[in-house]
Amino acid sequence: MSKKNTEPTRLPKERALLVGVDIRGENSILNLEESMSELELLAATAGLSVVGQSTQKLDKPYVQTYIGPGKIAEIKALVEELSANLIVFDNELSPRHLRELEDDFGSGIRILDRTALILDIFAQHADTNEGALQVELAQYEYRLPRLTRYWTHLARQAGGGGGRTGSSGGVGLRGPGETQLEVDRRDIRKRVAKLKLELEKVRKHRQQYRIRRKRSGIPVIALVGYTNAGKSTLLNILSNSDVYVADELFATLDPTTRRVELPGGNIVLITDTVGFIQKLPTQLVAAFRATLEEIKEADLLVHVIDITHPHTFAQARAVLETLVEIEADKIPVLTVLNKIDKLPDRNMALEALTDFPGAVAISALHSEGIEALLLKLNGFLFENYIEITVNIPYKETALIALFHEIGEVSRIEQSENEVEIKGKIPGRFLAQFRPFRKMVKDEYDAD
Ligand code: GDP
Ligand code: MG
Repeated sequence: MSKKNTEPTRLPKERALLVGVDIRGENSILNLEESMSELELLAATAGLSVVGQSTQKLDKPYVQTYIGPGKIAEIKALVEELSANLIVFDNELSPRHLRELEDDFGSGIRILDRTALILDIFAQHADTNEGALQVELAQYEYRLPRLTRYWTHLARQAGGGGGRTGSSGGVGLRGPGETQLEVDRRDIRKRVAKLKLELEKVRKHRQQYRIRRKRSGIPVIALVGYTNAGKSTLLNILSNSDVYVADELFATLDPTTRRVELPGGNIVLITDTVGFIQKLPTQLVAAFRATLEEIKEADLLVHVIDITHPHTFAQARAVLETLVEIEADKIPVLTVLNKIDKLPDRNMALEALTDFPGAVAISALHSEGIEALLLKLNGFLFENYIEITVNIPYKETALIALFHEIGEVSRIEQSENEVEIKGKIPGRFLAQFRPFRKMVKDEYDAD
C-alpha cells in the first residue's frame, strides 16, 4: 500500500525550477531534452510543482558552481519571476558544487540534484523494513559529504518514514556553525554504521530464504524493465493479485514475489523489482544490492518494455546496461513488448517484433497476449533443453548427480579436481549450474 493514503494534510507543493546541462562528449543514453522530460516526471512523482526550466551546453562543468556565472544570474531572475523555491539539477552535483551554489543562491532557495530527487522518491515508496533501511542508508551516504551549514540537524529527519529529502524547516536557517556540523557528521556516521549492521541481518535472513527456495526447485522469474514499463501490472495479471500500480516512477521499491501456475500446471515464482532508470547513480545501485540480488538469482529475466514510449530503445539500453552493472547479464532474458493496446495500429506491434526478435507482444492492462507469454515461459523453463558446459569440482557431488538425473549428458572429461560435463538441461536448472558454467557465448538466449 502506498503511504500517500495515510499522509495528513498536504503541504502546498514546492515550486521547482529544473536545470539541465549538456556536457559535450559526455555520452548519456537520453539527450538533454529527453533527460529533462524524465526529470520533470521524477519531480512530479516527488510531489513538486515544476514551474520552469533552464538548460545550457558546456564543454565542461565549472569547477565551483557547475554552471557559469551568467547562467546563475539568468536563473536567479527566473527564480524571482516564477516564485520558485527549489532548483533541481539534472546532473549530479559534487559536494563543492552544492555548497557554492547554495552560497550563490542564498538561504531562500533549496538545491537538489537528480540523485537527491530519486532518493526522495525512494523514501516515499519504501514500504518494508528492508526498503526503509536501504533508503535511509543511501540518503545518509549521499548527504554526509554534502552537509553544509544549511543542512545541519536536518539529516536525522531523513529516511524511513517517507520524509522529503532535507525537507522544509531547515531552509533559511544558517546553522550554528562548524562545531554543530561536526556533531552532525559524527551522529550520521554512527547511524550509518548501525544501519549497515541492521541491513546485514536482513540480508542474511533473505539469503536463508533464497537457499530454501532454491532447494524447493521452483524456478524464479524476475521482471525487470525501465520504471513505468508495466512490470507490476503484468505481475498482477499473471498472479491475479494486487500489487501497487501507478503511473509514477518507482512505484515499486521492494521486491514482491508471487506464485504463478503456468498452463499445464507447472509452478513458478515471479518477482517484481524496482524499475531501472538512466543515470541511476552507482551508489544507489549499491544501496539496493539486496533488492537487486533477487534479480541475480533468477532463472529467467522477463524484460518488460513500454513499446509506446518515445524513448523505447534508449530505455531498453539503459536496462541492459544496468544488468551488466549488477552482473546479471548472463541470465537468459525473454523480452516482452507491453502496452500494445496504446499503439494506433496493431500492425505496429508486428513491426516492433522485428526490432526485438523472439519477443512477445502483450497488453498487461487488457490481458492480451498473456497466454502466449505463459506458454513461452513454460517452454523455456520446463520443455526446452539448453546446451551447456560446466566444470564442477568433485566435492559438489549432489550437483554432478543432478546433471545426470535431469540432463542429457553428451561428454564427460575428468581432470584432477573437477569434472567437465557437456550436455543439455531444462532451463529451470540453469541457475544452479551457473557458477560452474564454462563461458561460451551465444548460449544464453532464451529463445
Ligand atoms: P512499473 O513501474 O513497471 O511497475 O509499471 P506499472 O505496472 O506501475 O505501470 C505503469 C503505468 O502504465 C500504470 O499507469 C499502468 O496502468 C500503465 N500500464 C501498464 N501496462 C499497460 C498496458 O498494457 N497498456 C496501457 N495502456 N497501460 C499500461
Ligand atoms: Mg512497479
